[in-house]
Formats: sequence, C-alpha cells, structure tokens
Amino acid sequence: MGNLIWHDLGRFISITASVYAVWSSFFGFYYRKFFWDFVGGTLRDPGGIQPAPGAAVFITLIVKAPIIQILAMILGMMIVALEYSLPLVKGLALYRSFVVRIVLLFFQSFLCILYYQVNSTMLASEIISKIPVSYDNGLASGSLFFFPSTVNIHNELGVDFEIRLCPALQKKPRLPTPHFNGGADEPVSEPLANVDPFTPPYDPGLLVGELISEEISQQYVVLMNKYSVVPRHFLLITKEYQSQTSPLMPDDLLQAYALLVAGKKAGKNMFAFYNCGDLSGASQPHKHLQFIETEDDGPPIESLAGSISLESPGKPFSIERLPWANHVFRFPSNLPSSPVHKREPILADAFISLLDLVISTVRYDPTYPAGLPSYNVILTLEHMHLIPRRFENHTIDSTGDDLSVNSMGFAGMLLVKSERELEAVKTEGLGKILRSVALQSVHDIQVAGSTRDIDGDATSML
Ligand code: AMP
Repeated sequence: MGNLIWHDLGRFISITASVYAVWSSFFGFYYRKFFWDFVGGTLRDPGGIQPAPGAAVFITLIVKAPIIQILAMILGMMIVALEYSLPLVKGLALYRSFVVRIVLLFFQSFLCILYYQVNSTMLASEIISKIPVSYDNGLASGSLFFFPSTVNIHNELGVDFEIRLCPALQKKPRLPTPHFNGGADEPVSEPLANVDPFTPPYDPGLLVGELISEEISQQYVVLMNKYSVVPRHFLLITKEYQSQTSPLMPDDLLQAYALLVAGKKAGKNMFAFYNCGDLSGASQPHKHLQFIETEDDGPPIESLAGSISLESPGKPFSIERLPWANHVFRFPSNLPSSPVHKREPILADAFISLLDLVISTVRYDPTYPAGLPSYNVILTLEHMHLIPRRFENHTIDSTGDDLSVNSMGFAGMLLVKSERELEAVKTEGLGKILRSVALQSVHDIQVAGSTRDIDGDATSML
C-alpha cells in the first residue's frame, strides 16, 4: 500500500514537471534566452551581458533557432504520455521501466535548465530605460543595421529642415510599398503575411519588450528599428495584427504619449509618427508607430507650431505659412502630468477632430482616389499634427529621381542618398516637394464652417 502511494506521488510530480516543461518551452519559443550566458560573459554598460564565445553553440540552439525548446517540448509530451498514461504506451516494456523514466527525467531537467523565458512585459519607463541597451545589443548581434549620415540644415518657410545625407542607403533595397487591405484588421494576403516582421517570433536582437499598462487593454510590443538612420529609432507595434490603414485608437495614442512622457522624464526629447495608408510612405502593413529622439525640444516643425498664438485654444488650427494642408492640435500644458483617465479623452478627441478635417480636406480634391484616405501623424508632448497625403513620392525636376516622403518629411527631416540628390532637393525647395505629395489647404473654408459634405459625415470613411 505504502509503495503504491509513493508510486502515485512520483507519477504526479513527474506529470506536473513535464506539463510545466511543455508550457515553459512554448514561451521559450517567443522569449529566447540562454540561461547561463553570464558564465564567462562580459557585462557591458551599455550593452548588458555579452555571452562568452564558448556559448555560441547554445546561442545558436536556443536564441537563433529554438531547437532546445522543441526538444524539451517533445520530451515533456513523451513523459506525460508515459505517466498519464496513454493506452498505446501501457502495452510497451518501457512503460514498466524505472530506468527509462529516470533517463527521460534527467534529460528533461538538463534541457529545461538551459533556457529561460525572459519576462519582457514592461511599463513605458522601463521600455525607455532599456532602449539604449537594446540598440547596442541589436548592433552587436548583427540584427540591427545602422546607416551613418550627415545632417544638413536648410532653412525654408521658417523651418530649419534637417536633410540627412546617407550614402549607405543606396545599397539598401527599397521595399515595395504594400497595398494594404481596405482597412480590415485582418492579416494581409498570404505572401505579405509570410514576411510580416512584426509578428512573433520576434528577432531577440530587436525585441525590447512588451509594453503593459494597468489602464490599457490593448497589447503592444516594442522593437528596435532594424534599419536605423537615427540611433535608437524604435517601433511600437500592436501585438495582434491590425492594419496600418486603420486610424489610431485611444489606446495607441495613450501608449505613444506615455512613451514620450517617460522619455522626457529620462532626459530624452522624442517624437512619435504614424504613416497611415497607401500614400503615406509606409512600407509595412502591420500597425506600427515610430519613435525618434531629437536634440531640440521636438522635430523641426515643432518650433513653428509652438510659435503660433491661438485665438481659440482647444480647437484644431493650421500652420498657414506652410503651403500644404496641415491640421494641428495643441494639448493643454498639463497633459504630460495628467493621469491616464484625463489624458484619454483629450488625445482621442484631438485625433478625431483632426481626422475629420483630413477627410474634409480630401473631399475637396476631386481627383483623390476612392477608399480610405492616407495621412501622416506627428505626435509630440505639445502637439498632434495630421497631414493628408495625395502621393507617396515626389519626382525631382532636375534629376527625375523619385523621393519617398513619410511623416518624417513633414516633421522637417528628409533623407537623401547622394550629394547630387541633396543639391537637387535644396534647389527644388522643401515647400514645393512637400506640397506636391500633400494637398492644398482648405483651412479658411473649414474655419468658415462651410465644410463640403459629400457623402454624409466624415466618420463614414473610416
Ligand atoms: P514604414 O516604412 O513607415 O512602414 O516603417 C517601417 C519601419 O520598420 C521602417 O523604419 C523599417 O526600417 C522598419 N523595419 C523593416 N523591417 C523590420 C524588421 N524586420 N524589424 C524591425 N524593423 C523593421
């Protein structure tokens, strides 16, 4: 009788351990880490633990491909089948063998102590503090490519435009602009879905962590930008697939703003941007916002926005000096210190009112293609800017080259690949270039309240 109880207790312990091994190996697929990387490793600041060269085989078998995790999962399932036990197994000689059990359990523990599931859920402040280390790790592991550039300041329209000359980009193949699904939050068609880099498993050399917040239900992942021209450029991605044509939701805005606030507290000025739709300059169909650090208080366009004195605070306005349609909202000055429940209606209402204006602007252009409008969003701690887009590229008159423009262009930061292109852009003028890919402002008509309503209310286009 006593033996029977010990026997059953042993069985239950073995089943529990094996179920846990299966469960942990499953998480180990997504969050891959070799547990013993600190043995002989070097601790760098910044950079974190750099594993010893002797650990390369484990990095390959655990981090690059989850081979050990797969073996642990198979072994765990085999032990559960043996101990539970499946009728198929009951007839076998190994079912009655203690030695087989001991060997299997020994291997199971050996495999499971090799890997570790990094708990990567973090608050905005933790994400921000991890960005420099993640950037250095990404570079060191070869997952992240940095393209050095030189900044040329070009003053036009009262804005100190930053034109980055980045010759190394000539070698980077340009991704074709995807044609997004018509706003449906369903994964894109098969060929594109297969190459969506923003779905798991994430490249461990680029993953910063999962962003969580007690008040926000939508889940997000933060990844370093694989191809960085500006150091520490990172992306906020919806964990579940959502389309890049869909408007920003209150949760998207709250998390983006929380990251900007956390950045400011850590002494970093950042801005966020979102390229929405076919003509916005986006290259990935999975919803992602991007974050860039700036030396000044914000991107070049911010000082112009900040210099405007508002007759009606709390209402959208337009920077009339700019020759393209732009819709801007200034946040109350206490927004960065406000609690989430107070921030949410302000951010959400600002976005909806600007989006209404974008849709109304688009409707004044009879040639605008049918379907969802494209626009760029620039978010700083002080302002939200929405710029409706008509074309993705501008063809430079003197060279005939196509220049792709996204939110960064409207933030006042443009990228060129050669000296020749730099000179051509300066000669052509940023005003002309940006106007040609955007729309004509109809702000005066909109202010006068005579916004033309063609197909009912604006939200019907969403
Ligand atoms: P957009 O072109 O606006 O859609 O932004 C997509 C961003 O994702 C670009 O800045 C790319 O450099 C970046 N990117 C492309 N592939 C990857 C990847 N596999 N992992 C992380 N970032 C990526």
